Amino acid sequence: MFFHAKTYDIDELMRHNMHIHTVFSGCAKREMTVTDIVKTADECGLDIIALTDHNSFDRKNAVAAQRLEILKELETVEHKVKVYVGAELSAYGINKFADDIECDNSLDFRLYTTNHFHVGYWEHPEIVTPRAYAEQMLAVMDSVIKSGRADCFAHPFMAGYIHAFEDRHEVTRAFTDNEIGDIMEKANNAEIAWELNTPAVLGDPEFYHRYFQIGKEVGVVFNIGTDAHMLERVDPKQFAERYKEILY
Ligand SMILES: [Zn+2]
Ligand SMILES: [Zn+2]
Repeated sequence: MFFHAKTYDIDELMRHNMHIHTVFSGCAKREMTVTDIVKTADECGLDIIALTDHNSFDRKNAVAAQRLEILKELETVEHKVKVYVGAELSAYGINKFADDIECDNSLDFRLYTTNHFHVGYWEHPEIVTPRAYAEQMLAVMDSVIKSGRADCFAHPFMAGYIHAFEDRHEVTRAFTDNEIGDIMEKANNAEIAWELNTPAVLGDPEFYHRYFQIGKEVGVVFNIGTDAHMLERVDPKQFAERYKEILY
């Protein structure tokens, strides 16, 4: 479990990187060993990182066993950075979770994704409109909040994995400010944080400016997550100026 202190200062938030993939994620570069990740994090002076490998529908609950392997490796590396060993978990439909709750609860950090629409088993709305995708994401997020399984939402609202529309920003434009505020408030009451995910923020500045401003108004907790798949993405501070231009 990890719940960041409430701050809207980007430099402060960037002392943490709560979204890093290791070699346990097939999509991560081979250089993403646990040893080299923590060495890099120490070199960058980060206080806290979270290792968040993808879970797998075919290898149910495998992230729990993986966590133990990662912990073993961590014991062999001297490091200063505090490491949370979690996972990027899948809510692939309303109340549809890829792992058992016992598995989720054994993790130090449960980063929940609701929008990996490129994944084969992910449920899509019945009608293919931007608004239908927005409603689907809101309903899935609501079910995650009620499930008590999550510490943070990964790249929430992001439409980058929806390929049905010429302009994917149509999906993020389909969320109203009230809907964003309401779901943020519900999550906040359940101590679930909201990610400022690097590819998401940089890929849809207009939306994430709105997201940050509404979140600040509601009083949510934000986490920085660069979604690092290579060592050069471990340090979020390289994106600080860009984040400030977009979010402030
Ligand atoms: Zn993701
Ligand atoms: Zn990720």
